[in-house]
This record gives sequence, structure tokens and C-alpha cells, in this order.
Amino acid sequence: MAMSNTPVKPPLRTTLPNAREFPRFAGISTFCRFPLIDTVPSEQQPVDWALYGIPYDGGVTYRPGARFGPRAVRDASQYIKPVHLEHGANIAQVFSLADAGDSPVKPYSCKETLDAACEFAKTIGQPSHTKLLAVGGDHSTAYANIRATWERRGKPKGGLAMIHFDAHLDTAGPIWGESWTHASPFKHAIEEGLIDPKRMVSIGIRGPLNTADDLQYAHVHGIQIVTYEDCTTDAGISRIDDFLERIGPDETYLTFDIDCIDPAFAPGTGTPCCGGFSTAEAFDLLRLCAGANLVGADVVEVLPDRDPAGITALAAAHVMFEILALAAVSSGLNDES
Ligand code: MN
Ligand code: MN
Repeated sequence: MAMSNTPVKPPLRTTLPNAREFPRFAGISTFCRFPLIDTVPSEQQPVDWALYGIPYDGGVTYRPGARFGPRAVRDASQYIKPVHLEHGANIAQVFSLADAGDSPVKPYSCKETLDAACEFAKTIGQPSHTKLLAVGGDHSTAYANIRATWERRGKPKGGLAMIHFDAHLDTAGPIWGESWTHASPFKHAIEEGLIDPKRMVSIGIRGPLNTADDLQYAHVHGIQIVTYEDCTTDAGISRIDDFLERIGPDETYLTFDIDCIDPAFAPGTGTPCCGGFSTAEAFDLLRLCAGANLVGADVVEVLPDRDPAGITALAAAHVMFEILALAAVSSGLNDES
């Protein structure tokens, strides 16, 4: 065959509808207009990252409504485009991406919902290859996706490293007699060996706390806390850098509670806490994580009924995009297929 000097662009790994022919406001909403997983053509198999919803909010301790989060985020994500300017990455070029629908839920039982969601998640795509990004739902649902991710990665001894964005620690004990609430997903994940508390950082933590003892669990188990206040200083940012250097290429899970963003920017959430990141500051911190070897992620706690103008769902859609772009830029750095 004759050689050509014209560089050949590799085919896109994800085919997106052409927005100049099919308007973004028309058709059935899937996350970022990715194809439904059952419609992904064979040449784009196996899917690299599958997004799915966990429409459950039975784990909340304050305002309910996050069960409507996945639908709102799907809708808000129609204007997400594939090229990330700052990372210089085209997520549709790097990855085959798909929407795997919603997990089943059992609205009257926290534990049964988490088990059902986990079983569903374990079957998505090609389990040893396809990585999962779950959209909540309240933060209790993260446990299901963490457990599924850990099992799909071959149950690594010592657990996964963890980057946790949140106003709250989420390592509490039982509340109203229920231990599987949105205040305790990491307590369970740590106690079951799914994540390693000594390779876990909680970013954006801020008050008020119930008691100063709330910090005890993190201190006893070695979770690194970088408060919102810390993040306003160079020293705080260096601590995040040091953490990332310390975990290096370890398999890492990223969990993003939208309430780490200030309610002025993300009011649609169940346990709002003033004085957090602006949306732009949260993106900067996410971009700082380039290089982390992400093997799973979630975005949780969007409560559409409290979300004027849909700004929280829109922020969550952009966080999803930031996570996929992070994974895209990091996949090259980690020399992974
Ligand atoms: Mn949380
Ligand atoms: Mn929170």
C-alpha cells in the first residue's frame, strides 16, 4: 500500500451523536450522550468506562430527594463535550464510554439496596476491564460501587487507595439504629478491607461537627484530612501533592460528594454546609489529581428539588467529565491499556 504523509487519526473509541445534526436538547438523555451500553458496536468493545445511576436516598440523615439525582445529572450532562481544554485530552478518543442505565434499588432497605446495586454493578461491561462511574443517590450508594470495583479488580489485598471530596467525613457509626447510612460508607469499606485508610485523603472537610470525637475515626485509622481551610494555603495543597506522590500508581477510587462545593454554587444537596469550594476551585483540585490511577469513581448527593436553575446537577455533570478526563490523561501516565 502506498505510504501517505497525511497523519491518520485513530478512530474515536466512543461515537457521539453529531450535535450539528442531532441537537443536544433532543432525544432520550444518556450520561453525556454516550451510547447505552447494549448498543455499543463491537469495534468499541470492551467499554472502558461505564456510567450508571443508583437512584436511592434511603440513607440520608437530613433532606431526602437525591434519588432523583441520576435523572437530573443525565439531563444536565447533554451539553458536555468530549475535549478537555486544560488536560488536552479527548475522552471519546481515549475511551469507549457508555451509559449502563440505573441499578435496581429496594427503597425501604439500605442494605438490600446496596447489595442489589453491587450485584448489578458487578455485571456491567467486561468486569475485568470496564471501570465504573456511579452517579447517586446519597453517599451510602458509594459503598456499592466501591465494593463492586474492588471485586472486579480481583479483590486486591490491602484495598484501594481513596481520594474523597466531601464536607463530611462519612465514617460515622449507626444513626437511628441504621448502620448503612450516607454518613458511614467509608467506615464499612475500611472495615471490609475494600479501601486502605492509610492511603485515603478526605479533601474539603469543614464544620460544624457533632462532637470533636467525629475526627477520632480518621485519626485512629490514619485517614489524611485536608480541610477546606487547608486548601486555601500552599501548605495544604502541598499535602495533597504529597499524598498523590505517596500513592503513586496504586489503584485508586475517587468519590465526589457534591456538598464539598459551597451551597452558593451547589445548593441542591441534602446536607449543605456553607463555606466550601467554588465550582472552579473544585475543578482545580480534581485536575491536581492527574496521574492518579483511577479504577472507579462516583458523584453523589445531588438533590434536584433543592436545585434552582439546575446548577448543582450541572456541576455534577462537569465533575463527571473532569473525572473521565483525569482518567484519560492518567491512563497514558500509568501506561495502561
Ligand atoms: Mn458524603
Ligand atoms: Mn457530604
